Amino acid sequence: METMSEEMKFEAEVSQLLQLMIHSLYSNPEIFLRELISNSSDACDKLRFDAISDASLLESDPDLSIVVGFDADAGTITVSDNGIGMSRDEVIENIGTIAKSGTKQFLESLTGDQKTDSALIGQFGVGFYSAFVIADKVDLQTRRAGAEASDAVLWSSDGTGGYTLESVTQEARGTTVTLHVKDEHKQFADHWQLHSIIKKYSDHVTFPIKMLEQLPPPAEPEEGEEPEAPKTPELQQVNAASALWTRPKSSISDEEYQSFYKQVCGDYEDPMAWSHNRVEGNYEYTSLLYVPKRAPFDLYESMTPKNGIKLFVQRVFIMDDAEKLMPRYLRFVRGLVDSNDLPLNVSREILQDNKVIDSMRRGSVKKVLSMLSDMATNKADEYKEFWSQFGNCLKEAPGEDPGNKDEVAKLYRFDTTQTGTEGELTGLDDYLARMQSGQDKIYYITADSYSAAKNSPHLEIFKDKGIEVLLMHDRVDEWMMGYLSEYDGKSFVSIAKGDLDLEGVGNASDDDDKKAEKEKKAAEAEPLINRIKTVLEDDTSDVRASTRLTSSPACIVMGEHDMALHMQQLLKQAGHEMPASKPVLEVNPTHPILDLLDREQDDDRFANWSRLLLDQAMLAEGGQLADGAGFVKRMNEMFVAMQPSDSDA
Ligand code: ADP
Repeated sequence: METMSEEMKFEAEVSQLLQLMIHSLYSNPEIFLRELISNSSDACDKLRFDAISDASLLESDPDLSIVVGFDADAGTITVSDNGIGMSRDEVIENIGTIAKSGTKQFLESLTGDQKTDSALIGQFGVGFYSAFVIADKVDLQTRRAGAEASDAVLWSSDGTGGYTLESVTQEARGTTVTLHVKDEHKQFADHWQLHSIIKKYSDHVTFPIKMLEQLPPPAEPEEGEEPEAPKTPELQQVNAASALWTRPKSSISDEEYQSFYKQVCGDYEDPMAWSHNRVEGNYEYTSLLYVPKRAPFDLYESMTPKNGIKLFVQRVFIMDDAEKLMPRYLRFVRGLVDSNDLPLNVSREILQDNKVIDSMRRGSVKKVLSMLSDMATNKADEYKEFWSQFGNCLKEAPGEDPGNKDEVAKLYRFDTTQTGTEGELTGLDDYLARMQSGQDKIYYITADSYSAAKNSPHLEIFKDKGIEVLLMHDRVDEWMMGYLSEYDGKSFVSIAKGDLDLEGVGNASDDDDKKAEKEKKAAEAEPLINRIKTVLEDDTSDVRASTRLTSSPACIVMGEHDMALHMQQLLKQAGHEMPASKPVLEVNPTHPILDLLDREQDDDRFANWSRLLLDQAMLAEGGQLADGAGFVKRMNEMFVAMQPSDSDA
């Protein structure tokens, strides 16, 4: 039997974390209460859920609640619940260690900015330790539901290096956390202080949060009367404990929606938008879906991203992170779905392939998309902010959710040659509205940066003809375009791939004379091009006269179904085998360098010129040269060869 008190050490990270937390929450100490209440509420949720299959866990005490108390003289605050409680091992696991892989990332992502850092603490779920922001000693006594009274444990720590564990006896199940408040925070051990913090942060917790009523001091007894017997204060509920989503929309204020979001989804900021729906049809359910203001730190990195949707069944909380309720590309949406059709004992396995879930998911996706489209139409500035936070998530949609491709594509925003400034984005509908006469394609280019896209030689002919090109420079873009072939009946065409046919498109700067001249030049250049082709046989799949270039001498063109050069290189660097697809080299017969080349009699120098042409086209494409030193050597040789000869002088 383990009855003795045991000294344990914190993991190194716990101590570090505690120090950081105390520091970063210094200006906002009151959130300790929200964190402890939220843990108690989770514990009640867990018990209520487990009790569905084993009612004996409720023992003789089925009404779940949280009690907040204090002792102003002793300087203590207590938060108690009759939830699931913890076994000894669970206490060690949950409170003594940080068994969460996110801890390291958490420590790394602290910014020193108090507002941001406090928000991070919520995201990483290290809430319990916030108790040490106001307390110099914390006791947690707990007994797991269903365990013997003698199996309770008392955990105690001053938050510096470690903690003690002691076996104790506790008749009632559940957990009591006692904070020994630091002198400078003694004001929190007060009825109205605690009352107002509960109202502020925890009003929507679905379990009752109770405090002992404040009784007025007993009245002075009249002459000759017996003094009144002191009343025993009763527990009174402080929070509204409403399942907000069950109320009619018209009765809920914006402030209520916002504070509900912050309490239930654990964000510190107001949401950007929300959508509340009661659906009646084949299946009945209510959804309350929120778009946060800010993307969580790991939105784009995590291989197993969390999903922010909670599942309720007839108001009973069933699970967090119900990933079946939202596709991956909408993983940033938070909120809840409350079903009337699922059984209460539903498990993750059941959710795998379930008609009710599928239908709720389809419906919820539509709601989110229409909420976003509404924002895009009516609140452009807000939408811009949304796009900068979450746009890259939406770009995963064409691959994941082909059925909603067009709705999602409508929400896309891209840089464009139209504005000429990075960040002045355009949507596809606006692009369509600006299309030139004769244009029936949406032209785009992918590159690894805005400037690489904007300065690409491929754009030359488009500038000339006044045809707008979308400048895509996020990594996910190339991948996305593999799934997005058209929008509103117009196909997407990468201007850096395949043959380009701009006949009859755009302004007529390319009038017949010019065109005829170009064709003539191209025909004349035929022997030259064949010569270059022979030199570059091993490195290109073809060399041809370009229709895209007006001022550069050459450019690289990929096959229509090839991956862009910058992506190929990225994948190669990441260790992926890339099939060797050789590019096409297009040359501009009207460029003076080509004239120079044509006059070159020396075969070695001709070969050098040709290689330089290919290399610079690669560089302009954001590509890397396999033989950079060779490029420099060739270039230098050519410079030397270009020395003005005596006869020129
Ligand atoms: P989080 O709540 O985000 O998981 P915390 O540090 O606040 O992180 O709590 C760690 C864990 O300790 C919880 O996940 C839970 O398992 C356990 N715990 C904390 N408070 C309670 C409580 N009142 N009742 C039961 N378990 C609790």
